[in-house]
Amino acid sequence: MSKRDYYEILGVSKSATSDEIKKAYRKLAIQYHPDKNPDNKEAEEKFKEAAEAYEVLSNSDKRSKYDRFGHNGLRGGQDFHSYQNVNDIFSHFSDIFGGGFGGSSIFDDLFSGGSTSRSRQAQTGTPGSDLKVTLKLTLEEIAAGTSKTIKIKKHEKCSDCKGSGANSSSGFKSCSVCNGSGEVREVSRSIFGQFVNISVCSNCRGTGKIISDPCRTCSGDGRIFNDSKIKINVPAGVTNNSYMTMRGEGNAGKNGGPSGDIIVVFQEIEHPYFTREGDDLIYDLFLSYPEIVLGTSVEVPTINGRASLKIEPGTQHGKFLKMRGKGIQHLNQHGSGDQLVRINIHVPDKVNSKEKDLLKELGNTPNVGKPNR
Ligand SMILES: [Zn+2]
Ligand SMILES: [Zn+2]
Repeated sequence: MSKRDYYEILGVSKSATSDEIKKAYRKLAIQYHPDKNPDNKEAEEKFKEAAEAYEVLSNSDKRSKYDRFGHNGLRGGQDFHSYQNVNDIFSHFSDIFGGGFGGSSIFDDLFSGGSTSRSRQAQTGTPGSDLKVTLKLTLEEIAAGTSKTIKIKKHEKCSDCKGSGANSSSGFKSCSVCNGSGEVREVSRSIFGQFVNISVCSNCRGTGKIISDPCRTCSGDGRIFNDSKIKINVPAGVTNNSYMTMRGEGNAGKNGGPSGDIIVVFQEIEHPYFTREGDDLIYDLFLSYPEIVLGTSVEVPTINGRASLKIEPGTQHGKFLKMRGKGIQHLNQHGSGDQLVRINIHVPDKVNSKEKDLLKELGNTPNVGKPNR
């Protein structure tokens, strides 16, 4: 099926301003809104089509891609969002019409006298809370990335009632406060006239029904508090105190409400001999005076095992030698940092009499014994 041109859908020219696009969309959204066209498939399609066109043309980045490459410029990527569900579209409206749908939004005015069904406002259950988890990681784990399974106590959806909290489908009864409509109307009078304020019924949260026979397993809560195991995949290169969000892995909501997230905070365990500096690792290497003067080859630890390092004759104390690519892998990109080896002279605490004699003799030679000062 070939897609229609977005400008054509909204009935605007290619040079339309964002205001014109907004106005055109608003007009179509009102015309084809499902509340005004109940059970009209064609109107629903038009409604979705307009929402998709608006989503692209109202975003300057997506619009310029569309202008250059047409529908193909958006397909496959994250730019493209095809609406399967009418409810997805309502997120646009706060932008277009201002405010939410509660109380007295423009929509209430536009559709007054129309259908009073307000199912989209009904909130099923209460959203679950987020959970915070601190994960301690060694530098070795950070360098390579790791996966850890943790045990956590959290609310999980009750499997017996599928989160509803009611014993079976007959476990619900119509809400007595709103008579099952899910909304409460309050009439108030003032000098300006009569106002009808429609609000979501707080007794049933707009669902129109309440539990009459609670699920035995969860006592009507729709969730149970349980030990659960969570697998956390830690990418290589995470930094100390950075965090990752695992969507929908937190506490399950009450009575079928959406689950919260798990926020994993990474904490780096101090390493016995590496210091992290971004994605580079600093290692202090101690060499004897003869080694540093004459040059040598030594084995040094790296984050991935031992590796040999050549010390050129005459290497200065305090100098950094770079071991390329031996640091920590960059987060979400190719390549790794380096290991920087800092050269230090090892000064012995004490020496025996033979060493003392040799050092004294060395101290009287022209190159060793007389530094510039
Ligand atoms: Zn249950
Ligand atoms: Zn109610």
